[in-house]
Amino acid sequence: MSRCSGKSARFVFVTGGVVSSVGKGIFSASLGALLKARGLRVLLRKLDPYINVDSGTIRPGQHGEVFVTNDGAETDLDLGHYERFSGIDTNRDSVITTGRVYMNVISKERRGDYLGQTIQVIPHITDEIKEHIAKGSDDVDVVICEIGGTVGDIEGLPFLEAIRQIRNEVGEDRCLFIHLAWIVYLENLKELKTKPAQHSVKELQRAGIQPDILVCRGDMPLTRDIKEKLSLFCNVSPDDVIEGKNASNIYEIPLTYHAVGLDSRVCGHFGNCSSDADLGEWENIANNIRESMDNVTIGVVGKYSGMDSYRSVFEALSHSGIFKKRKVLVEFFDGEKFDSDNTAAEMLSSVDAILVPGGFGKRAVDGKLRAIKFARENKVPFLGICLGLQLAVIEALRNISGVSDANSSEFDESCKNLAVARIEEWMSDDKMKKCMERLNMGGTMRLGAFSCAIKEGSLANRAYNSCLISERHRHRYEVNNNYRKKLEEAGVVFSGLSVDGELVEIIEREDHPWFLAVQFHPEFKSRPFAAHPLFISFVDAACEFCACKVGAKNYAEVLNCVRTR
Ligand code: GLN
Repeated sequence: MSRCSGKSARFVFVTGGVVSSVGKGIFSASLGALLKARGLRVLLRKLDPYINVDSGTIRPGQHGEVFVTNDGAETDLDLGHYERFSGIDTNRDSVITTGRVYMNVISKERRGDYLGQTIQVIPHITDEIKEHIAKGSDDVDVVICEIGGTVGDIEGLPFLEAIRQIRNEVGEDRCLFIHLAWIVYLENLKELKTKPAQHSVKELQRAGIQPDILVCRGDMPLTRDIKEKLSLFCNVSPDDVIEGKNASNIYEIPLTYHAVGLDSRVCGHFGNCSSDADLGEWENIANNIRESMDNVTIGVVGKYSGMDSYRSVFEALSHSGIFKKRKVLVEFFDGEKFDSDNTAAEMLSSVDAILVPGGFGKRAVDGKLRAIKFARENKVPFLGICLGLQLAVIEALRNISGVSDANSSEFDESCKNLAVARIEEWMSDDKMKKCMERLNMGGTMRLGAFSCAIKEGSLANRAYNSCLISERHRHRYEVNNNYRKKLEEAGVVFSGLSVDGELVEIIEREDHPWFLAVQFHPEFKSRPFAAHPLFISFVDAACEFCACKVGAKNYAEVLNCVRTR
């Protein structure tokens, strides 16, 4: 292992071809997990060719969720995979986009840093990319760097050029190119077709990059013939043509790549400088997945369809399932479909717990409020996240306290009862200044990790088994403290507050077996080998609820069972 350390980090560059979403993110994350299991210090990094400066403004329906790092960067969902698989926290340097690269270069140009030079893609843009890739690499053994997009995209060219140059600079033995290509299967012929993969390798070669390892993604096993054909046409040794078959659970993927020799090929290339892989943690995960028999169903009420929009939430639920050896099924409900209390009740009657995740904008809010009402009244376990907490507050004020126009200024700025609003809309000036300073709020969003003090004896306290926690935030609006008293009268318990006591972080209900909502995003910190305590407790409550449903003749009996358990 020692030969890998020191100032000479190795670089692994991961590209993808044939189709987008070929699995580069999970592949890079799995490779990170495997190299870490071999005792290497790993840094995972992504280069994203799109022009947005970060992912904060991209619609989740189009690009998947916005993943938030501890230091408050709004990033691509692949960073979530990196953290979950490698257990290593990412930060704002873990990703760079074309937009950010150009922004940096243009600011340097405006500052006069280039002393009268003409600024060009090569060398200025490529130098900026290379500088970013090398950042922090002195302290690690291997940098795994994923290039977003698909080989052949116009936007990706400067990134390919930059990594080509790095290979020249650091030498072959410190740099490895891995290309993932989808191997097409033609159902009518029952045959695998390698031509698109060959073309994607050609495209890479046109940019001056010869892959060292070719990972063949697909649903079908790779035959020896196919491997040899790809080896011949793509100029890769047959042993470096590696199968990357789909797995039924993504947390089985590190083991499947290990089984086909991925980490030993990578380490072999770098001079076998690591110890053997200790994969005990991943084997435990695989065993638990195999032993999970019984289902429990969580209803997620949101507005964006598509799994990726709430990816970390789904993963966090799955981690609790792995921990509890329980198959956690997620049923997604579009809040817009809940056009009356009855529809919501009917549609949600099959689930064992309800989760309202984060969100922005007005669409589907009424339906989410109906789902919360249903969970509260029927004692169905409920977890609200970020917008989910804000709506739980509004629901309580409207339906228990009779403040029928309670709202958030996000949805109705002119409303009289702004129970949820920007702090400048309800906090006194001097307090607000201090608060903004403490929250380090440059823009309008509260972003990144903040501490939260938890009330002793509360449900949150029991779940976390701690009185002080830190969680990641991404929101503009906060619960208006002027409504705290009314909310307490309506049965709301403020079980988590910012350390200065000024901001509401966690609420729960005293009249409900498991009703909890948080202003932060706990899902970002859950790991397959360390499920998040709130999610574990929530899934526990869902399992209890599910057990009560067995044998109950009607809803009243379920409720009675939940109450008496
Ligand atoms: N839209 C809400 C806010 O900005 C909630 C954000 C979220 O759920 N992440 O405060």
